[in-house]
Amino acid sequence: MEMPREVIRPGEGEVLDIELQEDFIRRNEELARRVREILDSHGVRAIDVMGSIGSGKTCLIERMVERLRERYRIAMIGGDVATTIDTDRVARHGVKVVQVNTGAECHLDANLVMKALERLDLSKLDLIFIENVGNLICPAEYPLGAHVRVVVVSVTEGPYTVVKHPMIFREASICVVNKIDLAEAMGVDPHRIAEDARRVNPSITVVLTSCRDGRGIDDLIRALGL
Ligand code: MG
Repeated sequence: MEMPREVIRPGEGEVLDIELQEDFIRRNEELARRVREILDSHGVRAIDVMGSIGSGKTCLIERMVERLRERYRIAMIGGDVATTIDTDRVARHGVKVVQVNTGAECHLDANLVMKALERLDLSKLDLIFIENVGNLICPAEYPLGAHVRVVVVSVTEGPYTVVKHPMIFREASICVVNKIDLAEAMGVDPHRIAEDARRVNPSITVVLTSCRDGRGIDDLIRALGL
């Protein structure tokens, strides 16, 4: 039998920077509302794509761009700590990209998105994919003003991603379970991941995809209402 373990959790007010953190979060929410107003005033729809490094966020954006670029004028805002690798990839599809390098920060915030929007001619756009910085913790607390938040989880991350990071799955309205072509090799059941996501967020829409063979990409596009 497994021994019960003692778990230490910070109590209310025990984390030293909690007040500062709450200020940041409140300010971010104000800015996110402003971002949304700007987007709506131009009729531009924005999609915040979150997920771990290597979950396939960039690849999914590329596959969607390939299918949507005839119907929509698309741009991408790419959040990354240090590189332009992902925006370079998407730019090759003829999409206008704006790179945001966050340095020490593990998430985009609405202020950075606002700055990125200044680099785009919104009157010439219909759709913006925002690729958030790759991790499952920080982005959850910082809405960006996007119309949809998507969280991508791949079977290569193992079976416990959802239960270990429930908050981001509560924040998102769409969960993509990616790399299903590798599910058998990984010994991970994508349907189990889908069930976990629905358990933490009963209203979430789950889509199973493979960027490599294209399965589910059209389902994702449909789920996004595009
Ligand atoms: Mg990426």
